[in-house]
Amino acid sequence: MALNLIMLGPPGAGKGTQAERFATAKGIPRISTGDILREAVQAGTELGKRAKAIMERGELVSDEIMIGIVRERLARDDVRAGFILDGFPRTVPQAKALDGIMAGRDPLIVLNIDVADEELVRRLTTRMICKECGTNAAVEDAAVPGSRCKKCGGAMVQRADDSVAVIIARLKTYQRDTKPLVNFYGARPTYRSVNGAQPPDQVAADLIAAIAAVSKTAPSGAHA
Ligand SMILES: [Zn+2]
Repeated sequence: MALNLIMLGPPGAGKGTQAERFATAKGIPRISTGDILREAVQAGTELGKRAKAIMERGELVSDEIMIGIVRERLARDDVRAGFILDGFPRTVPQAKALDGIMAGRDPLIVLNIDVADEELVRRLTTRMICKECGTNAAVEDAAVPGSRCKKCGGAMVQRADDSVAVIIARLKTYQRDTKPLVNFYGARPTYRSVNGAQPPDQVAADLIAAIAAVSKTAPSGAHA
């Protein structure tokens, strides 16, 4: 069956890193909503034009437009063997719309990376970025003072947007809008939660094991 994956988890849980690793390993696209929004704007599609106008007014792109852009992206041929959605759905209405988009396809595999709030605050307040090239430090290296960028050797500094107040606000937004998705998907046979408070290699191994277990039990084709 196709590996149709979505990843849930709070900011700082390492979703993006894990999504990238898995997408590369399996040769399936990682679909980040930021990227596809930029693509739609550049390509000048109808939805892209509407999104551009909204963003130029400094407003947030609506669920309706975001859903339309995801629908267009998931209609392309390169997702036939699967995909990893990164940053979507973020809300229950988006998740309901995604179920509609996925009708008649292999079931969504929903992976939650679970990390306690205190651990997230610790990670996010110690997250480092390269002063020279902007590369983020991997979580396991993040707290090492005086560390150097693995790519270019530049000095690693704390990310400017990672002040405690900003982090608490981001976690609150997650609790309010995105955490309800854990309940929305939690009862499905294709849902798994892994412990994100482990080294990234162990989280990756747990995710692979969860996907393998789910793929075995899930029927091929979402329709009855
Ligand atoms: Zn660098």
